[in-house]
Amino acid sequence: MAEQLPPLDLARPEIGPEEERLVVEVLRSGRLSLGPVLEKFERDFAAWLGVDDAVAVSSGTAALHLGVRSLGWKCGDEVVLSPFTFVASANCLLYEGVRPVFADIDPESLNLDPDSAEAAITDSTVGLLPVDIFGQPADLPTFEKIAASRGLSILEDSCQALGAIDSEGLKVGTRGNAATFAFYANKQMATGEGGMIIPTGPDMAQVLRSERNQGRAIDMDWLDHDRLGFNYRMSDVTAAIGVAQVSRLDELLAGRAEVACMYLGRLAGIPGLELPGPDQAPARRSWFVFPVRLPEGIDRDGVIRRLGEQGIPAKAYLPSIHLFPHLAELGYREGQFPVAESVAARSLALPFHAGLDEGDIDRVATALAESLAAGA
Ligand SMILES: *Cc1c(COP(=O)(O)O)cnc(C)c1O
Repeated sequence: MAEQLPPLDLARPEIGPEEERLVVEVLRSGRLSLGPVLEKFERDFAAWLGVDDAVAVSSGTAALHLGVRSLGWKCGDEVVLSPFTFVASANCLLYEGVRPVFADIDPESLNLDPDSAEAAITDSTVGLLPVDIFGQPADLPTFEKIAASRGLSILEDSCQALGAIDSEGLKVGTRGNAATFAFYANKQMATGEGGMIIPTGPDMAQVLRSERNQGRAIDMDWLDHDRLGFNYRMSDVTAAIGVAQVSRLDELLAGRAEVACMYLGRLAGIPGLELPGPDQAPARRSWFVFPVRLPEGIDRDGVIRRLGEQGIPAKAYLPSIHLFPHLAELGYREGQFPVAESVAARSLALPFHAGLDEGDIDRVATALAESLAAGA
């Protein structure tokens, strides 16, 4: 039997000496929160993206929650979104009593299908929540047209798509809608926990900065509060990691694209395996995970088990969230979103981060080909 190689990581952040140096600097500064490094991170991030302002918060979910509130979506309202997403996309609506109304996805982009979304609009619909799933930009130009003609607002969940370019050549998050990013350890840029929201203008930015800090206005004293707020602050320790990550974000994104390119080349010959499709210029995906779709009838759990036995973690990714108990209880059931459900049943995320080399990719590809040939 072949010598057992050390296990691969499913995901891994790229943390280097600059991250360490900046974190130690904050620790020694005595300003651990609401200090100058938080402001620097916001400015650097906004400059990298090419927007006027960005508001840092404690997580991507917190960014989404504040986004929902700042758009005025409230109890009894409905918002249309894809069920093929991370559960936070819907939870942020539930926090405010807003009903998540799911609509099916496009089989190519795996994002919310505009025709299905439009068909799901009712008199109670106040907004659309497009998610750029797997780093693939959602069809924002079309959603913006629908929103304008129906009087809806838009919250973009770009938490998987930092650095992606959309079909009109714009960086995701720069179209003028409220948009969110996330910095959990497996994202393109990581701070451990953390999120960012791009406001639609200075008024929204002010409300966001107040609500992340217990409803305290910028010009108020420590214990003055003029609205309901939360503790959604990002610490300066976290922001220091963010400053270092933004300074080499282009390099981090290029590293992921290189690994994705190796995968695409090496997996191309495996019969029946569906790979992420090519970019349609000027659009460009930002690589968040490397998702493949297994052929119909393959035992996915068996594949995951066989890969796992060889030190290769793989994950059934993503489940369609309308079937989770707390969403199914709103009346959702199996069979309602056939495209999302079929994709969810067959998709598999392979180990993916910028630290993988040709040898690692070859090892994954060989093991995957063998287990597919064996039928499991
Ligand atoms: C990561 C992610 C979020 C936010 O997650 P946090 O863990 O709260 O930072 C939201 N939506 C999607 C689609 C995500 O992938």
